[in-house]
Amino acid sequence: MKKILSVESPEGHYHAKSVILWCFDDRFSGALEKFLKEHPDQHFDIIKVAGGVKQLVSPEHETDRDFILRQIAASIKLHGSENVDIMAHDECGAYGGKREVSFYEEELRKGEEVLKEFLHIGVTKMFVGFDGIYEV
Ligand SMILES: [Zn+2]
Repeated sequence: MKKILSVESPEGHYHAKSVILWCFDDRFSGALEKFLKEHPDQHFDIIKVAGGVKQLVSPEHETDRDFILRQIAASIKLHGSENVDIMAHDECGAYGGKREVSFYEEELRKGEEVLKEFLHIGVTKMFVGFDGIYEV
């Protein structure tokens, strides 16, 4: 193999403040980066999948929900994550580009219910608009 980039990564174990379930829509990657920079001394495990919270609430296949729940459980087990931050965003392609904020608020509430059914963990619900991140 050949090295394609030199970069230092920290060794050792870390404790995650939270595991974040985020949509992979790159238009909102900058919002996630800014959110992470607001917590410079903390670690987050990030699950980036199409639709974010949609994979918990209305996945295309039931096994998709199981996969996400197992990823969250792995973050809890490996890094002691104390919270799940679930995310939905404006004009999400996984939802057909819907624009109604109230729809996404309801999806986030349903996502919280799914998590509470399977895991004993805190949940933070975040809606990301084109102008910022809102806690629901
Ligand atoms: Zn999306």
